[in-house]
Amino acid sequence: MELDQFQQETRDWLEANCPLSQRQPARSADLVYGGRKCVFPSADAELWMQRMAEKGWTVPTWAVEYGGGGLSSQQARLLKKEMKRLGCRTPLLGHGIWMLGPALLEFGSEEQKREHLPKIARGEIRWCQGYSEPGAGSDLASLRCRADDKGDHFLVNGQKMWTTDGNKADWIFCLVRTDFDAPKKQAGISFLLIDMDQPSVTVRPIPLIDGNEDFCDTFFDNVEVPKANLVGELNGGWGVAKALLVHEREMMSQLQEYLPGLPRSIEEYARQYVGLGGDGKLVDSVLRDRLTQHLMNQQAMGLSHQRAYAEGMAGVLDMRSVSYFKAFATEEDKRGAELIVAFLGSKGWGWEGDSFDQAVELAATRRFLLSKVFSIGGGTTEIQLNLIAKQLGMPD
Ligand SMILES: Cc1cc2nc3c(=O)[nH]c(=O)nc-3n(C[C@H](O)[C@H](O)[C@H](O)COP(=O)(O)OP(=O)(O)OC[C@H]3O[C@@H](n4cnc5c(N)ncnc54)[C@H](O)[C@@H]3O)c2cc1C
Repeated sequence: MELDQFQQETRDWLEANCPLSQRQPARSADLVYGGRKCVFPSADAELWMQRMAEKGWTVPTWAVEYGGGGLSSQQARLLKKEMKRLGCRTPLLGHGIWMLGPALLEFGSEEQKREHLPKIARGEIRWCQGYSEPGAGSDLASLRCRADDKGDHFLVNGQKMWTTDGNKADWIFCLVRTDFDAPKKQAGISFLLIDMDQPSVTVRPIPLIDGNEDFCDTFFDNVEVPKANLVGELNGGWGVAKALLVHEREMMSQLQEYLPGLPRSIEEYARQYVGLGGDGKLVDSVLRDRLTQHLMNQQAMGLSHQRAYAEGMAGVLDMRSVSYFKAFATEEDKRGAELIVAFLGSKGWGWEGDSFDQAVELAATRRFLLSKVFSIGGGTTEIQLNLIAKQLGMPD
């Protein structure tokens, strides 16, 4: 189908099928992650997810047999553009779509793809990520959670930590040590898929800096995992893990697309809380300068994304550049969130209470606190800078 025709048909379909309520900016509570424990925020949100899933447009570029829309990357980009034009919310989010799905497409067996991908696409199963452990964050290859070969299954014991959404997920994709004697620690790691709905898996929430409690410790105590749940080769999990991290960092470099927005733009916060002088400029020249710098950086980031897309289309994109995007986007996100709090002055330092506007002021403060975590999760900024230095042949 010609791209023009595809775009027109997509526009018509979205107009006819996206409920009006799903064309409003989403707050945290409006986001849909699916899964067995999913409570939809509204009937419209459920309907919207189902309609998009039926079209395969929750995962537009995946093959139709895996629950996707079978779209080319150009068509998927047009779909995104049309959704943005109408203000349509992303119907379904999560680790399955962002990370595990792409990794399974590359490394999974045909049985694993047919078993897991359609359930991700339809929002039936929610996934979380079991990589980090106490003592194995940046130095991930030091992980010690073990899987012993028991013939027809693995027996998994150990702890994972910082498991985002561990308390809401149904399954976890995990890095486990299957060889303690490998000459290189990376060579003794395997990638396992584990159903969390069993008594030998315990999840304990840890409060996050912004007050959110979807961040967890996960314990495995003699968990039996079928051999069929091994992705890739035994002791070959490091390759799968690294490829998946590229997808995670790619997603995090486009955070603004997934995170719920604030009720005002950064310029509106500046106008309301700092104020304009007679010349129409922000009255505080230091804040004006910081805002200008931030907006210029955002613009540069958008253009860099466009360039990366063009390089991708031309088949010359170096996927290692994702470290640069992840580091820059999350650091700039922190600068933007800090700036809004600076605009708010003393109104930016409330945690709760009637002296603060819940939707505008407290939301901005919580968002500022939350922004701190993105430069840690998915690999810290320092680690991304090390990776970039390595690519450039420079020392860490
Ligand atoms: C919000 C959030 C969500 C997360 N979600 C998940 C999840 O779902 N699943 C999961 O498995 N993990 C998750 N993580 C864990 C995350 O991947 C780790 O926190 C991260 O990799 C850093 O590890 P660490 O916390 O152990 O810090 P450390 O590795 O102990 O690092 C401490 C500090 O030292 C610096 N540092 C460490 N090594 C170097 C070096 N070689 N050179 C320079 N500086 C260095 C780091 O940059 C950091 O500033 C999440 C973390 C956060 C904050």
